[in-house]
Amino acid sequence: MSYENLSGRTAVVTGAASGIGEAVAVRLAAEGARVALLARRADRLRGLAEKIRAGGGEALAVAADVTDDASVEAARDLVHETFGAVDLVVNNAGVMLPNPIAAGRLDEWRRMLDTNVAGVLRVIRAFTADLVAAGAGGRTADLVNVSSIGAHIPFPDYAVYGATKAAVTYLSQSLRTEFGPQDVRVTNIEPGLTETELRTHVDSAELTEQLDGMFDAIGALTATDVADVVAYAAGLPRHVNLRQIIVQPTRQA
Ligand code: NDP
Repeated sequence: MSYENLSGRTAVVTGAASGIGEAVAVRLAAEGARVALLARRADRLRGLAEKIRAGGGEALAVAADVTDDASVEAARDLVHETFGAVDLVVNNAGVMLPNPIAAGRLDEWRRMLDTNVAGVLRVIRAFTADLVAAGAGGRTADLVNVSSIGAHIPFPDYAVYGATKAAVTYLSQSLRTEFGPQDVRVTNIEPGLTETELRTHVDSAELTEQLDGMFDAIGALTATDVADVVAYAAGLPRHVNLRQIIVQPTRQA
């Protein structure tokens, strides 16, 4: 597979401090894209940017919090000053905080809604003009949203997380009606179990044990496996939109 459609692109990857976002950034940079790395942990982003540069790639560390309007706008301005307009946005930052609905964890619900849904929207808002301009200019333009199989498959105690991901999947479908006619592709990716830091934020010992059991029984994708899928979709010729991708470990039903 040739990824010549990635060379020379300018990408923004949210949640690039770890896991899938980090792997996507590394992969896109290896294929010749300039990559802006967004997340809150500046030290992690600086380390990743150095690693990418050491490998001959171009990367910019941008500390940003997707739950904060001003932070996302400042990030966009810094990306523009350094790299100019972007043509590939990977909306990946997310948190998974499961608990029984009866626990009434408003704090977790707010964090998931504000990161996984409103955060995705803030990033779309910041970069829509860039993507539309790239499409109008005859260049390849991509919005890639990282959703989850949880958008379709219900798991007990994951109702709010699943609802945020269902919102991302719906948003991707719906945005194609606005972006497609403007030559901006929208790709929605729904990974299954993937080995990252995501599960380390679960604060219930019982649910952590349950998750660990699933990882042991089923195995997991690596973040690099998911990054390969992102690179494949964004590397396709500009008239081809691989719009919905479900990627799971082989043993996960
Ligand atoms: P990680 O926890 O490793 O990565 C999440 C990333 O999001 C981190 O880089 C984190 O960096 C960033 N992030 C979290 N909150 C914010 C915020 N407020 N502002 C900016 N960045 C933020 O997990 P994954 O790599 O697994 O998660 C990536 C995406 O993949 C998520 O959307 C997740 O829902 C989805 N997914 C994961 C699956 C899995 O099994 N791992 C399965 C299906 C979907 P920092 O803390 O520095 O801000």
